[in-house]
Amino acid sequence: MTAAFDFATAGRVMAGAGRVAELPNVVSGLGSRALVCTGANPSRHERLLAALDMPTEVFAVAGEPTIATARAATAVARDHGADVVTAIGGGSVIDVAKCVAMLLANGGDPLDYIEVIGAGRKITQQAAPCVAVPTTAGTGTEVTANAVLASPSHGVKASLRSPMMFPRIALVDPELTVSCPPPVTASSGLDALTQCLEPYVSCQANALTDGLSFEGLRRGASGLRVAYLNGDDIDARTDMAMCSLLGGIALANAKLGAVHGLAGVIGGTAHVPHGVACAALLAPVIEANIRALTASQPGHPALGRYAQVAGLLAGRTGASIEEGVAWIRDTLALLEIPGLAAFGITSQQADEIAAKAIKSSSMQGNPVALSLSDLRAVILQAL
Ligand SMILES: [Zn+2]
Repeated sequence: MTAAFDFATAGRVMAGAGRVAELPNVVSGLGSRALVCTGANPSRHERLLAALDMPTEVFAVAGEPTIATARAATAVARDHGADVVTAIGGGSVIDVAKCVAMLLANGGDPLDYIEVIGAGRKITQQAAPCVAVPTTAGTGTEVTANAVLASPSHGVKASLRSPMMFPRIALVDPELTVSCPPPVTASSGLDALTQCLEPYVSCQANALTDGLSFEGLRRGASGLRVAYLNGDDIDARTDMAMCSLLGGIALANAKLGAVHGLAGVIGGTAHVPHGVACAALLAPVIEANIRALTASQPGHPALGRYAQVAGLLAGRTGASIEEGVAWIRDTLALLEIPGLAAFGITSQQADEIAAKAIKSSSMQGNPVALSLSDLRAVILQAL
């Protein structure tokens, strides 16, 4: 019971099919001049943009956001005099909008604040109002306190992070995810599932996050394969949108674990989509955690939690952890998720990745301390 849920700064969630119709009213209630961040092709959201009843500038985020992307978007927002920032897009788009909203209120440049490589300046002001409208179901960034940016010159990804960066409104409408292509549905969906599983077995889990992550796991287990095979299935899309949302709130309050500790480093090492990295690492990390827990703390509550998760995944109460892990491996095959070697990660890099990952903040949530050789073995299995 160490994590605290920050009601003072967390925003409001509006979720359900069709709710995006409320976007113009929501934005009008928060400001009078908008910057809207979208994916590479803003015309996909032409009708939504036209419905906004105020002077609006659009910033298109193409690909993975960098410090330069956030800097450029902030310049557009400042030139426009924006007082509200809206994101309509995937996790990358929402992360850029969260950076812009923070910088509008705090001044300066992303490099002043970013963790690890930044100047260490503190975020002291509540971000400008930000409305996050996800069009993929995966990152949960619409309800988290951080935004991830890449710095190609440093060869890393790092976060801007503060409770003052929670979006003011998360408007989660599963109908917006219907057009999400199968490979993105697969990788983002596996990220969502992992972001419910890691908080559920985290050493910082608490009663509140347990309820959220368990329901997210239940919905992810029921919706993931269907959403991939039949993208028009609105019930499956709703399950996945909720899985992502619930995981985002859970992780912001209970931390993650070794999958994300490793995936963060791997994402800074090679161009592996985050969800693909998580997917490839998921089964090996569960097996490593089970081995370590069984050897050192056979009465540890995380073992019982893994068994509960296995029941949800395999669709049968009383399923063994092995059956749960088999469901994950079968799902990866069905969803055609490649291993890490497909992105150029080699066994020679395993030591370096393990050494960096063991120090990551996500690793603090892992239910048991994994050694460097445990992590190295996980990486080799995920290739
Ligand atoms: Zn993730």
